[in-house]
Amino acid sequence: MPYKITKERCQNSIDSTEYICDYCGGKLEPIETVDNSNNPTFWTGCKSCSRFTAGCPPTVFEIAKRMVEEHHFRYYKDETDSKDNISKAAQIVRLVQTLSEQIKEESL
Ligand SMILES: [Zn+2]
Repeated sequence: MPYKITKERCQNSIDSTEYICDYCGGKLEPIETVDNSNNPTFWTGCKSCSRFTAGCPPTVFEIAKRMVEEHHFRYYKDETDSKDNISKAAQIVRLVQTLSEQIKEESL
C-alpha cells in the first residue's frame, strides 16, 4: 500500500520550518505510523519523547521553558515531568503571539 505521506514529504515539511519539539526542544523527525484508515504514513514527531507533534519555533520553546523553570508556570499541577508543562506553555505563548498580531492589525 502506498504511503499517504511519504518520509521525504514529511521531512520536507519539517525542513520548511525551524521548528523543534515543544516538549524537549529536540529535533523533529518523520515517524512511521498508520492513519485512522490504517494506511501507512509518516507524521512529524519527536523520537526521544515518543510523541507526534508539529513542534514550535525555538524562541517559543525558550520562553515556555523559562516560564516553567524560572517562573514556576504549572498548568498540570501534579505533573512531575516538566515537559508537559513546557508544551502547554508553548501553546499559550503562540496564542499570545497570534492575538498580539491581531490586535496590532486591528488598531491600524
Ligand atoms: Zn521531544
